Amino acid sequence: MSENETYSTEGPKCPFCGNEFTPDEAHYFDEMRYTSETCDSCGKDFDVDVYTQTSWTCTKPSPQQHRDEPPLSRSNELERVMMDGASVCNTPERKAYDMKLKTGDRIKFAAEKQPYRVRVADDRFAVCTKPFNLRKTVLYTIVDLEQGVRGADDRIFSEGYETDEEIAQALKRLQAGEIEVSRRNRVDLDIERVY
Ligand SMILES: [Zn+2]
Repeated sequence: MSENETYSTEGPKCPFCGNEFTPDEAHYFDEMRYTSETCDSCGKDFDVDVYTQTSWTCTKPSPQQHRDEPPLSRSNELERVMMDGASVCNTPERKAYDMKLKTGDRIKFAAEKQPYRVRVADDRFAVCTKPFNLRKTVLYTIVDLEQGVRGADDRIFSEGYETDEEIAQALKRLQAGEIEVSRRNRVDLDIERVY
């Protein structure tokens, strides 16, 4: 590698000053249209080549899953990807998180490498998304501060979680009790930092 070039699997890294960007928006994963960047640290422009590698891992479902669970829907599948690396704990006495989240916050969970963005929040709930480059969409997770858990909603066929309108609707439905964090796949809240 020449001194004019940087390589990283974590995010674009400025070849002038070494500042590394957190790829927390979908456009960072776009191979066709993300071709240049301006460093927010040193202000210089540089060219970017994005290479996206895609792979699929398929496994036979366990017999128990086969019997008890509905067939994999798109949202279920996303939920599974989202939960990858997280451990499901069922601690009986969960402590409510005494903190506030607001729209625009970045939120890093211990079980996942890439931070989410808080799209909308009230005192109890926060709907958070992060880019899912394999499908040019987003992964979402709903934080429930009162119950100290997070996860996808409890619907087999979820409404969308991409546009601001969809996100606003999701919060309304959470507040009305029409949907809640999935009981089957929720994980204990593992907020590492909010920034
Ligand atoms: Zn720079």
